[in-house]
Amino acid sequence: MSTIQASLFELPQVRTPTQLGRTSIRTVEAGSILTPTKGRLGSYDYSLNPYRGCGFGCSYCYAAFFVPDDEQRANWGKWVEVKENALALLGKQRNLEDARIYMSSVTDPYQPIEACTELSRSILEHLSERRDQPRVVIQTRSPLVTRDISILKRFKHLRVNMSITTDSDEIRKRFEPSCASIERRLDAVRELKAAGLKVGVCISPMLPIEDPIQFARTLRELDADRYTASYFHSSEKLFASGTGDEATKIAREMNWTFAKFQRVKQVLTQLVPRLNETAFSPE
Ligand code: SF4
Repeated sequence: MSTIQASLFELPQVRTPTQLGRTSIRTVEAGSILTPTKGRLGSYDYSLNPYRGCGFGCSYCYAAFFVPDDEQRANWGKWVEVKENALALLGKQRNLEDARIYMSSVTDPYQPIEACTELSRSILEHLSERRDQPRVVIQTRSPLVTRDISILKRFKHLRVNMSITTDSDEIRKRFEPSCASIERRLDAVRELKAAGLKVGVCISPMLPIEDPIQFARTLRELDADRYTASYFHSSEKLFASGTGDEATKIAREMNWTFAKFQRVKQVLTQLVPRLNETAFSPE
């Protein structure tokens, strides 16, 4: 059997612990792996989430609000489900030629458990080997994505969107303490660009910025292909419950308002080319 045929039908060699730091892990059989998109992701054909839940557990995460189970919603960041049949499901999927896939919409494909399972890596390897290769945008805030550069380079159309939410690691630690430092994310972007890959930088949601002009210079020097800057999730109702409460509280303590966001965005727009809110579009 050729490598391509094998990867279509075999399950990945998943090595899955049951606990990773504060996050409990379990494997599940998913009903589907490609979800037809709608709403703000309507310009894509599918979203692809290798995991349910997210070990990063960012305080502002809107994905938590889509979890129907109250306990899981309240404990966002403390549980992750690994879709162990993801590859088998993809193997059954026909005609992905030029399909626009967003990976991922309600989890981070390169969250900590990925270092053990290599599930996102296996999925991307599979997609890259298909004759009907899709177009992929990877959305992450994890430098782990650089581990898979050799696979990412096999795609004709792929972009890595890196979320870089502030210029201050002290501020980052308040809102997203389990995520990689800002400097490591900047280094990851540099590495991806040096490898010849397309990169989007998502200042999303923008957290308080200590030095907008210096931040703009840093972003510009990355020479990313696209940039996007946005405030917290626009729905006050969504933002005002569950884990959003924590982010709202921190933002208030720091006096971080929509008006301040607008002023910083104006500075960035003047100094950073291609900061035009298109980084969430398909590649
Ligand atoms: S990395 Fe993304 S999906 Fe995960 S908790 Fe943070 S915002 Fe939510």
